[in-house]
Amino acid sequence: MKFLKPWTFFFVAAAVCLGRTEPSRQPIIDVHLHSASDSALKGGWPDPVPGISKPASAREHTQQTLAMMDRYNIVLGIASYDSENVERLRLAAPDRIWAGLSYGIPGFEIEKMRSLYKSGKLRIMGEVCAQYDGLSPSDPVLEPYFALAESLDVPACVHMGVSFSGITQSAPKFRVSMGNPLLLEEMLNRHPKLRVWIAHMGFPYLQETIGILSVYPQVSIDTSAIDWLASPEPFLSYLKELIKNGLGDRIMFGSDQMDWPEAIGIAVETIEKAAFLTAEQKRDILYNNAARFLRLSPEQIAKHHESR
Ligand SMILES: [Zn+2]
Repeated sequence: MKFLKPWTFFFVAAAVCLGRTEPSRQPIIDVHLHSASDSALKGGWPDPVPGISKPASAREHTQQTLAMMDRYNIVLGIASYDSENVERLRLAAPDRIWAGLSYGIPGFEIEKMRSLYKSGKLRIMGEVCAQYDGLSPSDPVLEPYFALAESLDVPACVHMGVSFSGITQSAPKFRVSMGNPLLLEEMLNRHPKLRVWIAHMGFPYLQETIGILSVYPQVSIDTSAIDWLASPEPFLSYLKELIKNGLGDRIMFGSDQMDWPEAIGIAVETIEKAAFLTAEQKRDILYNNAARFLRLSPEQIAKHHESR
């Protein structure tokens, strides 16, 4: 106690008077969440970083994901999975979850999908994970999906970059080369009105990602997975390069918590602790860029900023 300066007591007392002991966060949008299934939680990958573990069931995964969103003031989450499991998460928090399908593209029947968008059950195309099928995002088999998204003005998220070490043993068609962001280019030119975001910042394809972002203003990127799975240094140096290239208004926060809801907090804190980012740049990444990309209304934005 002897090391505390007198003003410390003032702030502690003020915080206690306000009924809280830590500063509350400004609102955050997480553009890359997933639901989970019971079977996936039983098998799948071992816990990838120390101190986190998988929930025992899909129901618990939903509860823990929403609890982490509460804790970090994540006011909107873009979540994808198969249609049944993502609907469970959406129904648990319909005001805070926008749903998409990360399973079944290609394959899902287009007219059925159109009716899911019309009903509001789906609001996002993807995460399109065709890379796991060894497909380029510009492959003709994906055309009906991107055409549908463009016609409905629904943004599309495309998995790009890398995956887990050893992924081809469980997903034998996965190819790193199909995650090169340059492969988006033909699709982008076929669908010039489609808003697209590149998952995982296209990591490690830095120059290719900068090239696509420089030429196509309708493209953004998310920080997901590498903001908690990798050690911070490669993620932060990649992020710094994007900022240095003037792309700070195109980067959206994503966690991609997959089976591990606690990863959401690690990902938020990685951005918050990035010493080279200004407070304004952090706000852009954690909220403003996504609010603009997703075309949130002034009313929605004002509501998100109401104090908790
Ligand atoms: Zn994902």
